Amino acid sequence: MLYRSLAHTSKTASSWSSKPLTSLRPLAFPLAPAAASSPQQPIPALSASSRRTTMSSSTQLLQSILDANETYAAAFAQSDPALLRKLAQGQSPKIFWLGCSDSRVSAELSTGVAPGSIFVHRNIAQCFHPGDPSASAALAYAVHVLKVESIIVCGHTGCGGVRAGMQAAVDAKVKEDAGETVEPPKPGSVDDTIAKWIAPIKSLASPHAHAASDPLSTLELATLTDEHVRATVEAVAASDLVRAAWDEGRDLSVHGWVYHVATAKLRDLDCGFKGPGVRADSLSRPATYADSEPADAEN
Ligand SMILES: [Zn+2]
Repeated sequence: MLYRSLAHTSKTASSWSSKPLTSLRPLAFPLAPAAASSPQQPIPALSASSRRTTMSSSTQLLQSILDANETYAAAFAQSDPALLRKLAQGQSPKIFWLGCSDSRVSAELSTGVAPGSIFVHRNIAQCFHPGDPSASAALAYAVHVLKVESIIVCGHTGCGGVRAGMQAAVDAKVKEDAGETVEPPKPGSVDDTIAKWIAPIKSLASPHAHAASDPLSTLELATLTDEHVRATVEAVAASDLVRAAWDEGRDLSVHGWVYHVATAKLRDLDCGFKGPGVRADSLSRPATYADSEPADAEN
């Protein structure tokens, strides 16, 4: 089932990185990676009170997150009160980030920048579907109200949405070869909802479905991830919203990156644009898939 493919992700938690983007203000203090914790692994810095022993695990987790927020707020107020006051006045981010909803891939955590640096829209597998009002509204606001200077489409390794799209293409190919009819999922069901969302990724994967290995290999999925990011960069660059900014002579570039969950490294795909049909400056660092994976990785 599609949603099972979608849920097939590594349980490796992303590690905290404090490395900042050089042109942006870094977060001035380290934080506990609360988002990586789970009810089975409570946030270490927090001690459970006796009243929590009667709470459900989800309530305990939420209490821990609120406790972590108190720690975060106190550290923020102590280390950078000027930034807090500035943020209270408004935002002026220079970057718009279109990323996946995956819990391991955060725009701010992966770049180490402070709040106020990146305007973010996330959905499953960082799609930019024509007619999706949510992604379009976020892009419109970022480009034409906030006047961002760069757009980053960021995919990641181990993406459940990409896997589901590839698996759907393979399953359809197998049934087609067997002469079986592909029954559409029940409207409104989980499979129907996911199938509609990942349909463009399935289409992208279809030409490769006949040669796909069983089970799908890490490298096959990584290749499709790159291809999907490139296609999304082209779709964003071709949108009326971005074209309008370029028509105004605005300095605006669109880039495609991939976040490697196993190393927390970002890889630029060197597929960007800074005008209609005009390639963006190359950022290539690091340049290859292998450079961004663990040295002992098996592909
Ligand atoms: Zn993903």
